[in-house]
Amino acid sequence: MEAKLYHLATSLEDAHKKLLENPRNVLLGGGLWVKKSTKSAETLIDLTALNLNEIVETEEDIQVGAMVSLRQFEKHPAIRAVYSGFLALATQQIMGVAFRQLATIGGTIAGRFAFSDLLTALVTIDVRLMFYPHKVVSLVDYLEAKGKTTDILTKVIIKKSPGTGYFKKVSNTTLDFAILNVAVLYTNNAYKIAVGARPQGASLAIKASEYLAKIAFPTAEDFANAAEIASEELKFLSTPTGSESYRKTLTCAYVRRGLIEVAKNAG
Ligand SMILES: Cc1cc2nc3c(=O)[nH]c(=O)nc-3n(C[C@H](O)[C@H](O)[C@H](O)COP(=O)(O)OP(=O)(O)OC[C@H]3O[C@@H](n4cnc5c(N)ncnc54)[C@H](O)[C@@H]3O)c2cc1C
Repeated sequence: MEAKLYHLATSLEDAHKKLLENPRNVLLGGGLWVKKSTKSAETLIDLTALNLNEIVETEEDIQVGAMVSLRQFEKHPAIRAVYSGFLALATQQIMGVAFRQLATIGGTIAGRFAFSDLLTALVTIDVRLMFYPHKVVSLVDYLEAKGKTTDILTKVIIKKSPGTGYFKKVSNTTLDFAILNVAVLYTNNAYKIAVGARPQGASLAIKASEYLAKIAFPTAEDFANAAEIASEELKFLSTPTGSESYRKTLTCAYVRRGLIEVAKNAG
């Protein structure tokens, strides 16, 4: 991306005012995706001086500042502990360490990338997003909403509950975008299943979860049935890296494996 000007924001109010000044002004997270863009911008607005780079753990949740890097996120003890560490596992699959030192949580969520590894894991959890000036929305609602906003993401609030998670990225090499992402979470006696990079963005397999909710002690056969339901209820498309039917087959295999693994770990 080419930009005419650079602005180091001194407060959220200052950043927001600058953003509203011109529709071609752009917020910067780590700047890695922005840099790749072929569009041009008037002013790049840097959020690094706004103290948005902290992770705070409370009794109920983990509050992650929008400028927290992916590396900071994956290494934080609270993130490594929650849901058997599957958020850290999903983050570690993204490029290399040097890349993750720069890429931010805020840029990852605001980018709403359909290929995102971390977003697939996050949609299985109760996650709320705080925006400046005054908005709190669930991650799922935010990902479903269309169009550009002029709100600034400040904090990502991850609810803590006892539970165990599974994450699988299928890609040709470790540095490639996913051909498919699968996340499974077992928490509060319920199974949640998300599939991303279909190539559309992460979606919950609601019917598969409802099927399992009716069974007190699901067997391996029930898990296989639920995986089949997930592969039928979600939409898949063909791209040069994977056909629709390949993605469907992968979904069946990895959702089944994920369900078996979280059930085993949940004891
Ligand atoms: C070469 C490359 C390879 C990648 N490979 C993968 C991969 O394999 N798997 C994967 O999951 N991800 C991958 N990603 C995505 C990456 O992990 C980050 O999600 C991405 O770079 C965005 O993070 P950033 O901090 O660089 O954001 P930026 O590039 O700075 O911003 C991204 C967007 O978010 C907006 N934004 C930033 N911060 C805020 C905020 N606080 N409030 C509102 N809007 C904001 C920006 O204006 C911009 O539109 C890749 C990215 C690149 C560039």
